[in-house]
This record gives sequence, structure tokens and C-alpha cells, in this order.
Amino acid sequence: MDRRGFLQQSAGVVAGVAVSGALPSAIASAANAPGMASGVLVAPDAVLNQRYPFTLPPLPYAANAVEPAVDAQTMGIHHDRHHAAYVTNLNTALASQSALHQYTLGELLMGLRRWPAPVQTAIRNNGGGHANHALFWNLLAPGAASAAAPTGRLAEMITRDFESVAALKAAMKTAAVGQFGSGWAWLVKTATNRLAVRGLPNQDSPLLEGELPIVGIDVWEHAYYLKYQNRRADYVDALLARINWDVAGAQVG
Ligand code: MN
Repeated sequence: MDRRGFLQQSAGVVAGVAVSGALPSAIASAANAPGMASGVLVAPDAVLNQRYPFTLPPLPYAANAVEPAVDAQTMGIHHDRHHAAYVTNLNTALASQSALHQYTLGELLMGLRRWPAPVQTAIRNNGGGHANHALFWNLLAPGAASAAAPTGRLAEMITRDFESVAALKAAMKTAAVGQFGSGWAWLVKTATNRLAVRGLPNQDSPLLEGELPIVGIDVWEHAYYLKYQNRRADYVDALLARINWDVAGAQVG
């Protein structure tokens, strides 16, 4: 399923859930926004389409493939332990919630406020962690595969909404360095089909607000502390230089 199909189906399924409250307008708008991708089915979409029990995909490259920006030890611990823990904890939280097993990860995140209160936090934190990291690995360009610059529709949207790639990267850096405590800096596509930069705490997914994640920079200390210690800005610079813009472009279609 492409992303247009994913969002449209998700909105429809979530709208059909027999609980009170209207479908958040942002989700409905996102699902119906013109220009939604007829895009490539990339790995993050596959994770968004997972249902319980959720599984950890392997890293799409060797642990040292993104050195020196991300050292192999950090990459290995980050994927094999941190990402794995989000998957394990999500499965544990949902094991007794059989009514939720029919929903995909994307649907669980987009419809968060509709689920039983005791599992909302687990879905937000661990479901968000699973979705965020699945996209993150694919956004890092291994070795020579680095895509030098955005192209196509994404490049047009960056020019329209930020004027230049340099200005976009500066905004991403400001959000990433300025995020207090643990969280992510995100480039998102909004419900009105604009690009925007968000700083979100913890593992909050942009999907919680009906916004489509395009690029995410993980600024939890577990993402950088072994190599960079307190130099978060240096880590952010290194990551922004290793973004696989082809993958990012596939997110907007
Ligand atoms: Mn992380």
C-alpha cells in the first residue's frame, strides 16, 4: 500500500471505531490532502502497516555503515537494544488488548485518543518509538549511497516553504539543539500539505497530530552520547549531512 492508501485507509478505519468524539480534523485533512504520495513502498511504511505482534526489522546496512557520523557501537546499541525494547514493550502492553490487534501501528498512533486510557501512554511511547526508529534507520545514508540533495516534489516543497535546503537544515538544527531533554526534530508534511519543522518530546510521532513524518533527527542522548558526549550540535550537523534525501523524498511522494 502506498502512503496515500495508508492514510486514507487509516482515517477510514479509525473513523469507524465505535467510540465517542470526531475524527481529528487534521487526520481527515491529511488523508484527503491533494498531492499525497503515490509513492514508493519503503520500509517505514511496512512498519506502519505492522499489526500486533510487532517485530523489529534488521538494520538496512551494517552497524558501521554510517560512520563517522554514527559510530558502530552506538548504532548497534541503539537498534539492537533501544529500538528492540520499544517493540518488546509495545507487545507487552497490547498483549491483553485483543480488540486493538486488528489495527496497524499507523492506525494506533493516528487514533491514539480513541484507545483505552491505560494503553495510550504505551502506544504513544513505545509505538511511537517503533515507528520513529524504523524511519530513522532508513533516513541515514550508508557509505557512498548518500543522496546529496533533495530532488523532485520534495525539493519543490522545500523551496516553496523554506526557500533553500540550507535554511531547512538550519531550522532542523535549531529544533534539534533546542529540544529540551529527550525528543526529536521533525520535518513534517502538515494537514494542509505544507512542510514544517517541529520539535517533539520523547517518542511523540508526528502522526499523533495527523502530520506525516518526512525527516526525523533523534536527539535522545542514547543516539549520540558515546561519541559526542554533550556536543549535540556536532551530532546534529553530522546527521544532517548524511540524510538520504531519496528516502525523505519518498515520504512526500
Ligand atoms: Mn533513539
